[in-house]
Amino acid sequence: MPGSLFREDGMWLRCQFHAHTTNSDGAPLPAALCDHYADVGFDVLAITDHWHVTDVDHDGIVVIPSSELTAVAHSAHDEAEVLALGVAELPEAMEPFPTIEALAAWIVERGGVPFLCHPYWSGLRAEDVLAAPSLAGIEIWNGGSEVMHGNGLSTVQWDDVLQQGRMVMGIATDDCHTPGEDSGFGWTWVLAAERSVSAVIHGLRTGRFYASAGPKIRDVVIEETAVTVRCSPARSVRLRSGPWDGCAVNAELGMGDWRGEVRQRDGDGLITVARFEFPEFWRWARVEVEDERGRRAWSNGFVLPGELPARA
Ligand SMILES: [Zn+2]
Repeated sequence: MPGSLFREDGMWLRCQFHAHTTNSDGAPLPAALCDHYADVGFDVLAITDHWHVTDVDHDGIVVIPSSELTAVAHSAHDEAEVLALGVAELPEAMEPFPTIEALAAWIVERGGVPFLCHPYWSGLRAEDVLAAPSLAGIEIWNGGSEVMHGNGLSTVQWDDVLQQGRMVMGIATDDCHTPGEDSGFGWTWVLAAERSVSAVIHGLRTGRFYASAGPKIRDVVIEETAVTVRCSPARSVRLRSGPWDGCAVNAELGMGDWRGEVRQRDGDGLITVARFEFPEFWRWARVEVEDERGRRAWSNGFVLPGELPARA
């Protein structure tokens, strides 16, 4: 639960978990991709070529051997893609897995962490995620999809899954194919004990991370019917929950607040601390922060404390 996550020991590592090289459909050679992400301040890079494990050593960045694999799905293209983060091998048969669950289970069995790629872009829905219990999470933000097609944000699908009681986790990525063109739009901050592949994989598996396209989440304190958020300067801070539910505070005049109050602002009037109070019946929530450029950060969802009655 993020209430404890932001007060745990460890180092926050900026991670790119979705990027391609000349080993599949990307423009850069593996070393050039590493150079790019190291140069712009990333600590960790998972190279996720299609059906290819690109494993390189680099002095400036931790490289997690990974790939992007496919499964048959009932989507527009009959296909779903899944990131096999931390798996340094490929399936024997180089053909799509029969289901998303079969693919996700294959990844878990090999010590990896499976994340479903760009649900919105792929035309996938909550049912596809619910039918794959081995998935650790989904890409809630895919920068490449957003830049090229305007469908990079999958928080509607995410909230639908969370509402049905499955605390699936959310990462943000670039899905970079050409550094400098489709890079720098999404990343994931992982709290790790050290700068190593195993520490990052552990952080991913245990939910010690949050997703971002810009803002930072610095603290989330969860009480019985209240949540306090500390963040980098934001024009809006929100607490998301079920379809009818939510809290928000907004820095700009005239936008109004709902079930929340701004506790602290910076010199420009942007929000740095917000507190929300919500009804007892809420079963889960997640934090969302939006900066003055419209870029967002997303905490993972968390189950709210207390013996809460199930709603009909
Ligand atoms: Zn990709």
